[in-house]
Amino acid sequence: MKRCKICTELGAGDSANIWNKPLFESPNFVALPSLGSLVEGWLLLVSKTHLISYGAMPDAQIEEMNEFKDFLCSILKQCYGPVTAFEHGPSMASRSVGCGVDHAHLHLVPLAFDLEAEVSPFLPANSRWIEAGIKECQDAHGRGEDYLYLEQPIGIGRIVTHDALGSQLFRRAIAMRIGVRDQYNWREYEHLPTVMATILSLRDRTAIGASSLQPEFVA
Ligand SMILES: [Zn+2]
Ligand SMILES: [Zn+2]
Repeated sequence: MKRCKICTELGAGDSANIWNKPLFESPNFVALPSLGSLVEGWLLLVSKTHLISYGAMPDAQIEEMNEFKDFLCSILKQCYGPVTAFEHGPSMASRSVGCGVDHAHLHLVPLAFDLEAEVSPFLPANSRWIEAGIKECQDAHGRGEDYLYLEQPIGIGRIVTHDALGSQLFRRAIAMRIGVRDQYNWREYEHLPTVMATILSLRDRTAIGASSLQPEFVA
């Protein structure tokens, strides 16, 4: 089996690539600036242990994950405005629905448009959004189904499950909407200047606002 790239990078300490160095962390999660950021402020909320998706997360970690997510969203909102969360949730490794990273990660992205509307042309014709939270993601995972999960606004979640979901669908929808349709694939378009801008502005934020940050989350 191929070694998981995220697990390798999280274990690499100082020698990890800069986009895989945590900006914030909690006992079981880290926030990484996302390689391939189509907009500034794009973070990945990543599990420190290897899980295929958040549908596979143990119940014991849900509360911590939600607290950490809320913390990250409040920082992003202060810097960039309203935040959207989404996950490409593969049922197992190498499914096309995944975005090429088979390790649980929730995308947190400042967006000023309706992502459900933008992603709909990319979905199979008979797919349907259902109101959902982490429990429904766990249920989908338990049934062996691939899913897409979307929270916009934060706290209002919905899920699509389907066996024919394409790759990087939310990334495709965002790229299309912002006018860089061909640049959705993070493997081809790393968008490093945008990644660096996120790192610098959130680091600044950490330095300037350190006393108001919850100390347990400062990496
Ligand atoms: Zn992993
Ligand atoms: Zn993803």
